[in-house]
Amino acid sequence: MDNYQDIYRATLKKWGTEAQYDQAIEECAELIAALKHFKRDKVGAAEIISELADVTLMIGQLSWMFGQDKVDAAVVEKLEKLKGLLEAP
Ligand SMILES: [Mg+2]
Repeated sequence: MDNYQDIYRATLKKWGTEAQYDQAIEECAELIAALKHFKRDKVGAAEIISELADVTLMIGQLSWMFGQDKVDAAVVEKLEKLKGLLEAP
């Protein structure tokens, strides 16, 4: 997501920090709702993909704001923990 740094910077400058938190919360909620609807055949895969794109962008925005390197390190740590759980008897 490093390619989008200019967009993340411009977005933050235009709307501010609080708006980014609120947008991330809203997009996560929309994905949650879409998944619930998908399970009941109320929406198709395209809706899920659209909401995943929204959440992906907000994750990129927030990761850039909080520090991509820190997020990447936390992901590696969590993947290692998951790997350990999968290898456990
Ligand atoms: Mg959305």
